[in-house]
Amino acid sequence: MDHEGSPPFRAVQPGFRWDGVAYMPYKQDGSAPFKDISRQVLFHEHDLNCELRYFEMDAGGYSTLERHEHAHAVMILRGSGQCLVGDEVRPVKPFDLVSIPSLAWHQFRATAGEPLGFLCMVNVLRDKPQLPSEEELAALKERPAIARFLEG
Ligand code: MN
Repeated sequence: MDHEGSPPFRAVQPGFRWDGVAYMPYKQDGSAPFKDISRQVLFHEHDLNCELRYFEMDAGGYSTLERHEHAHAVMILRGSGQCLVGDEVRPVKPFDLVSIPSLAWHQFRATAGEPLGFLCMVNVLRDKPQLPSEEELAALKERPAIARFLEG
């Protein structure tokens, strides 16, 4: 990541891309389960101690089921899907706001036939995501709505 800061203006391009912003497949190290998701870091601001990223899942794609100490502040920007936060699953649509507190399990899933894109704000300095153990996954699936959500 460069530390020179971004130029004052960067124009949007067709297809939810932006000038000067690298388009990256999510978590290229392959250490976590996810499907058809990309990441673009729109802002990496040391002065603000935050990053603003744009994530997008293809139709039927999903993010990693994970939790971590750091929080997320999310605004849905495109498409339609469902989101798990803690023990609650809700449908999401453009301009909905989602707050993911510290250590809450969370996952996003795009609706079949539609992509899902969202802005996600995080601290620049943050801990690594944790994946659920077998026991934690079983506990999550005790709630029928979460079991249905995880089965896609
Ligand atoms: Mn996360």
